[in-house]
Amino acid sequence: MGRYSYSSRWTTSDCKSLSVKFLNEHHYFDGGVRWGTCSWSRNGEKTGSIGYVVSTAQGDASIRFQYIHTNSQSDEKKDLDYKVQLVSTPCRFGGRRWWFICPLVREGRPCQRRVGVLYLGGKYFGCRHCYSLTYESSRESHKFDKLFAELGITPRQARELFS
Ligand SMILES: [Zn+2]
Repeated sequence: MGRYSYSSRWTTSDCKSLSVKFLNEHHYFDGGVRWGTCSWSRNGEKTGSIGYVVSTAQGDASIRFQYIHTNSQSDEKKDLDYKVQLVSTPCRFGGRRWWFICPLVREGRPCQRRVGVLYLGGKYFGCRHCYSLTYESSRESHKFDKLFAELGITPRQARELFS
């Protein structure tokens, strides 16, 4: 078993997206097993949190998410605990670049896209394609602003993410 360490929270205000950039900057890919949590609150009261464990073990690199999902219609709560596969590719200037493999299944087919950002657009983390979070730099794009706001992403950050 590798080393465990606390790490800083991730940057969006409500834990609705996670990027490999963040994990990289906070040394999650430096080896062993590392974990952290992200929590959010409303009116000063803690309303939820997400735990995650990053493992870069050879042959089984993954990020494991643990949180409670509340169904917005029935208010039913469900404990979730699942892994998202991580892969790495060599960088042109040395080192490795890490990616998430989208775990969602769309129309009966596993997505398996290699992506740099996962979004909690529903019950599970998935890629922007699965959650239809496309962003075009036109007046049309403003229809996504509310959605991005819910994800804790500013329009400027969204443009950077999708440019
Ligand atoms: Zn996907």
